[in-house]
Amino acid sequence: MKSFRYEFTMEELKYYLFNKKKCPKCQNKMIKSKGYELVDGSIFNSASTPLYIQGRDKVKHYHYLFNCSKCGFQYTLKELVQKNKGSDKR
Ligand SMILES: [Zn+2]
Repeated sequence: MKSFRYEFTMEELKYYLFNKKKCPKCQNKMIKSKGYELVDGSIFNSASTPLYIQGRDKVKHYHYLFNCSKCGFQYTLKELVQKNKGSDKR
């Protein structure tokens, strides 16, 4: 059986849910896609993150990617949040 997990900070989650995803470069619409990498589940069994993942199962570690529909630039959710910091202050 395969396990999976998402890794979001609150900031990223908020951005993901409420913000318009625009390309930081050309302000064009970005297209969401989902990617994942297979990681060894045992790395999550550290003392700081007690999880119920057992042994040496592979874990699907999901992350969201955003591709600009115009210039083709690709960002991870994390990068987009970083790029939008500061420019979004009121
Ligand atoms: Zn762009």
